[in-house]
Amino acid sequence: MQLGSIDTIVAEIAEETRTHTHRGKVADYIPPLACVPDSKFGIAVVLHDGSVHTAGDAEEPFSIQSISKVFALTLALGAVGDQLWRRVGREPSGTAFNSIVQLETEHGIPRNPFINAGAIVVCDVLLGRLQPREAIGQMLRFVRTVAGDETIAIDEAVARAEQDTGFRNMALANYMRAFGNVHAPVELVLGTYFHFCALSMSCRQLALAGRYLMDDGRADGHSVISARRARRINALMMSCGHYDNSGDFAYRIGLPGKSGVGGGILAVAPGIASIAVWSPGLNPSGNSHLGQLALERLVHRTGWSVFEPRGG
Ligand code: GLU
Repeated sequence: MQLGSIDTIVAEIAEETRTHTHRGKVADYIPPLACVPDSKFGIAVVLHDGSVHTAGDAEEPFSIQSISKVFALTLALGAVGDQLWRRVGREPSGTAFNSIVQLETEHGIPRNPFINAGAIVVCDVLLGRLQPREAIGQMLRFVRTVAGDETIAIDEAVARAEQDTGFRNMALANYMRAFGNVHAPVELVLGTYFHFCALSMSCRQLALAGRYLMDDGRADGHSVISARRARRINALMMSCGHYDNSGDFAYRIGLPGKSGVGGGILAVAPGIASIAVWSPGLNPSGNSHLGQLALERLVHRTGWSVFEPRGG
């Protein structure tokens, strides 16, 4: 792909989405998120050669929310390896991001690390070796390193708002504690989880942070994780990255991706590009409505779906 043409494509996608009237619904169950205008739209594409291509509000930080579950999974696998899979599954849930229903019949073992219950267990695993403050510091260092950007920060107001209103997450954590699958005190596990969700990043920073998933575990030529682990995380993003909308996302876009209720999506075209989009209006499953549409257009115009024959 010519560099000029990817610039044109992202600019055209940003322009197309600007005029859309159906923009989805901004999440309001976390009060600070409700104030974000639904007119925002950003896109950033980092190609394998390291070049960055952006359009729209790509430099504006937003709450990455559940996209942080990808980074938390990476850290937990680094800490305990495959032992993690004794406590969390690797199957799509087919239920909402904050659902509690499966936990009863499945004995407190969440279906995957990308639903809330799964990410709460992932945080508990990290707290098996670290204090909450250390785990939050480790997360911040990790995203700053993989993005190559020391300015990335956690929005304390968002973390506090989640602490004040996260009753469902409290229920999930307490329920799993009753099954013995949360070990640390629930308030410490959730405090860590909420701080991860409250990471504030722009599309540019997020796309840069996703390079290690695009490039077989490497970012900027440095090894972050093994190639095998990067491929496996991508597989989970493809099958479980969009809650009960994961099958539809794979069908329409054909890329590993992870969404957050802040309206961001990180998508990975392995060996080709790391992509971040942001539009705060959500579809009923809690995924960015225009973000998905933008990725669908991008993949259509570039042929980046993992199912597209690469020739040879
Ligand atoms: N912090 C949000 C919650 O726990 C994350 C949900 C999401 O982004 O999907 O409810």
